Amino acid sequence: MSFELTILGSSSALPTSKRFTTAHLLNINERFFLIDCGEGVQIQLRKYHLSPAKINHIFISHMHGDHLFGLFGLLSSLGMMGRKADLNIYGPEKMEEMMSSHLNYFGPLPFSLIYHVPEHGKLIYEDSKIEVEAIDLLHRTQTFGYIFREKKKLLNIKKSKIEKYGIGVEDVVKIKKGDDYVSDDGKLISNSELTMKPWHSRSYAFISDSAFRASIADKVRGVDLLYHEATFLEKDRKLAKQTLHSTAKQAAEIAKRAAVDKLLIGHFSTRYKSDQLFMDEAMEVFENTVSVSDGDQFSIPLKRED
Ligand SMILES: [Zn+2]
Ligand SMILES: [Zn+2]
Repeated sequence: MSFELTILGSSSALPTSKRFTTAHLLNINERFFLIDCGEGVQIQLRKYHLSPAKINHIFISHMHGDHLFGLFGLLSSLGMMGRKADLNIYGPEKMEEMMSSHLNYFGPLPFSLIYHVPEHGKLIYEDSKIEVEAIDLLHRTQTFGYIFREKKKLLNIKKSKIEKYGIGVEDVVKIKKGDDYVSDDGKLISNSELTMKPWHSRSYAFISDSAFRASIADKVRGVDLLYHEATFLEKDRKLAKQTLHSTAKQAAEIAKRAAVDKLLIGHFSTRYKSDQLFMDEAMEVFENTVSVSDGDQFSIPLKRED
C-alpha cells in the first residue's frame, strides 16, 4: 500500500552537477506515474533502482525543454528494451504533433503512444483506486498541474465481528459500504459496532512552472503533499512575475491557503548559491516545507480518516 514520490530532477532551466531538470516518479501501490521528463531521467531511474519498464503513464506539464527533453531518450530506450505495451502520454495539445515529427527521424517505436490532452478541472486519468485531475497554470506556454488522489476508501470491518456473528462475504461488502447487519437470531447490529473509520485517501499535487495564482490553493486544498515550483527568491519577485514563475514565499503562500500537510519546493534557479535561502523564505509563511534534492523520497503513510 505504498504512496511514494521520488524526485528525479529538481533544477530549473539548467541542469547542474548535482541536479537534473524536473522529473518526479509517483508510485501508488505499484502503479508508476512519471510526472515531467527532464533530461537525465533514464540515468536517475537506474540510479534509484526504479524500473522504466513499469511506467505506463507519463504526465507532461508543459513543452519547455527542462520538463521534456528526457522523453525522447526514455522512449527510445524502452523500444530497445522490447516494450510492446501501449504508453499513455498526458500533456499539451501540441505534444502529439511534436512527437510525431521527432519520430519521423528517430522512430518508429515498437509500441503505441496514446495521447491525452488535459482540461482544467477535469479528470484526465481514472482507474478503480486512483484519479488524476488536471488544472491550468499560468506560464509562458500552455501548462498543467496534476493532482493525484486515491479514491475514497470503504469502511474497515473488524475481523473479530466477522467471526463473532459469522458474517458472510456478501454482507461484508454491504457493511463496508455503511449498512447495518441483522444477525441470524434477528438482532440489529449497528454499522458503527462492526467497522472502523476507513484509511484516508492519500493525495499529491504537482504544480509545475507557474506565476502565483491564488486559485491554485482552492484546487489543491487539503492535499497531503504539495510540490510547488519556487524558481526565485523574494528579491527577484519582479523577475518571477515577468517570467511567469513563483518565488519560494509565494509557493508557501499557496500551501498555507490550501492548508496542505507538507510543501515541497524545487525548480531552483541556478543564480542562487544555496537552497537554504529558499527554505528560509518559505518557512516564514509555511513551516512544514522541504526543499527537494534529486533522489529524495517522500512517503505518505496510511492513517485513519478523522
Ligand atoms: Zn521549468
Ligand atoms: Zn517552463
